[in-house]
Amino acid sequence: MADVSRTALNTITTHRQWNLAQAVEGCLRHGLKGITPWCFQLKEMGSKQAVKLLRDSGLTITGLCGAGMLTGPDQATRRALLDTHYQAIDHAAEMGAACLVLVVGGLPDGSKDLAGARRQVRDALGQLVPRAQAAGVALALEPLHPMYAATTACINSLSQANDLCDELGDGLGIALDVYHVWWDPQLEQEIQRAGADRLLAFHVCDWLENTRDLAFDRGMMGDGVIDLKQIRRWMELAGYQGCYEVEIFSQQDWWERDGDEVLSIMKRRIASRL
Ligand code: ZN
Repeated sequence: MADVSRTALNTITTHRQWNLAQAVEGCLRHGLKGITPWCFQLKEMGSKQAVKLLRDSGLTITGLCGAGMLTGPDQATRRALLDTHYQAIDHAAEMGAACLVLVVGGLPDGSKDLAGARRQVRDALGQLVPRAQAAGVALALEPLHPMYAATTACINSLSQANDLCDELGDGLGIALDVYHVWWDPQLEQEIQRAGADRLLAFHVCDWLENTRDLAFDRGMMGDGVIDLKQIRRWMELAGYQGCYEVEIFSQQDWWERDGDEVLSIMKRRIASRL
């Protein structure tokens, strides 16, 4: 059975109901262990104040999300994207986040060069890794489901992420999100291959069989078809000891509910369905 005391809230799950301060309060009220804020929320509050709030909260900051992408149509754009990431690295360091989560970007506008986009990602990571290491921040590559390859991330499987980790060495790890990788026939062996050192974050939700929207209709754990218990076992056999981070994009359901209700159900489902 999953240890409910390891539950963390990825704040996208409640971002419509709660601002960052309310999310921190909610996590504390419900006895959650961790929180994963997004960069847009830091901006909303003012990054200085937000970093202080998070650092002083006593919560484990399991990651910082939403720094943006790494692919772009020209060098100036890519340079600016790197600068945004440098800033996010600094914020992650200041708040003591366990990692900076990277959703790497898809095809630049008008491009059909997927291999080229992937080279851009590798080159950008080559710049980011030393910078993050110097700041003491681990980078966590999040492979996204192939349906996002054009728009959001051209790293689409755990094996691709592991290959990049092999190539770039220390300082780069992986954020595993069940929504993106549950279908992968190589999942078990790629989790083993990643091992404890690389498995930096574990995002949980569920894939609804009759989903109304592939991006914004994620399910609560137990409402869909993902064998969550199996994936958690694989993660833990590989040595993962971090939080179970609940990340639910849900336009028509969970974002419409009361935040306290969402957190109560989250905890029950972690205990019974993960
Ligand atoms: Zn995720």
